[in-house]
Amino acid sequence: MASGKLIVLTGPSGVGKGTLVRALLTHHPKLYLSVSATTRSPREGEVDGQDYYFLNKAAFETMIEENQLLEWAEYAGNYYGTPRAKVEEKINQSLNVLLEIEVIGAKAIKKSFPDALRIFILPPSLAELEHRLRSRSTDSELAIVRRLERAKEELEVSKEFDQCIINDDLETALQELEKAIFSHQIKIAESELTKKSTLFIRDNDD
Ligand code: 5GP
Repeated sequence: MASGKLIVLTGPSGVGKGTLVRALLTHHPKLYLSVSATTRSPREGEVDGQDYYFLNKAAFETMIEENQLLEWAEYAGNYYGTPRAKVEEKINQSLNVLLEIEVIGAKAIKKSFPDALRIFILPPSLAELEHRLRSRSTDSELAIVRRLERAKEELEVSKEFDQCIINDDLETALQELEKAIFSHQIKIAESELTKKSTLFIRDNDD
């Protein structure tokens, strides 16, 4: 049984990764979205175990020490990380797993999952990103300033990813995302087929 694939969605805070992920899951319910751990306080309406595992700093550091995280990063004064066990379990069950994470963690994934498809979501402009961060009214002024500072650094490394998608119009971005994910799958399936047929030819080559 072929294992599932890891799909990593990254990009600055406020770019619309969450909205794109929710839309993607509605269309493709078989994709499994990993639930991250964080030391950030829950926002209004966020549910522990569903939106995040909300941990204190000591509990998060224990997860780091015990190698329970696939990747982790410090972001705007808090820790964020991907619990390893569930991702590996789902991939072994042949499910495709989606991570929605910031840029440092997304870069680090390459070490443990060299075959992961890593997609960078770009805003149409920095001004539009600032507008989106302010209009969602979830963060304090200090948090918004920190996120915008971080966004400038993050945008500089966007070219290191497998694909960049500009989230200007949601529908268009979603279509591009679907195309990236599913054509990647076809490419992998084709390369696995090629590998198998090469082995078959070798086996029969006497
Ligand atoms: P927020 O506080 O807005 O929920 O998330 C802040 C940033 O952390 C976002 O860019 C989000 O994608 C990222 N993030 C969420 N979970 C993880 C994770 O498990 N690992 C890493 N590296 N970043 C994460």
